[in-house]
Amino acid sequence: MAIPGKKTVKGSCHCGIVTFTANVQIGEEGSIKANRCNCTFCQKLGTTNMHLDGGKSGFQLLSPASTDEIGQYAPKTKTLVRYFCRTCGSHVFMDGHFLVDGHRQDLFSVNLTTIDQPQEGVDLSLAKISYFDALNDNFEAGASDKPWPNGLV
Ligand SMILES: [Zn+2]
Repeated sequence: MAIPGKKTVKGSCHCGIVTFTANVQIGEEGSIKANRCNCTFCQKLGTTNMHLDGGKSGFQLLSPASTDEIGQYAPKTKTLVRYFCRTCGSHVFMDGHFLVDGHRQDLFSVNLTTIDQPQEGVDLSLAKISYFDALNDNFEAGASDKPWPNGLV
């Protein structure tokens, strides 16, 4: 049973080398909010971005000891880094910033697929997914309940 409210959940890559806890907000009927995006970065990596309660401070890497031991991928801007397990390839989280009209926007997200299941209090089948149209830099449109063109459900 997923009870609404703030909760610290456990997550990991597939092989278990990368482990973490994340502070999440469990909504009505156990829902957990995340988003998918049609940009090539999100699309090719198959990411479901979950923003944490408290942002980056809501994330604690348990293992390995440092992000230096985790694979990193940061094409194009180089300021937004995807972290993935070097052994099993799971994409676990993203950290960095990007510019919107010249203004720095910090961004930290956990790949929702790496939240451990089954786990008491969080059920990924209850996730509420929204969609962004970053492929067209259409940030003004905000989140949609339906995928934007060229984006996977
Ligand atoms: Zn792994």
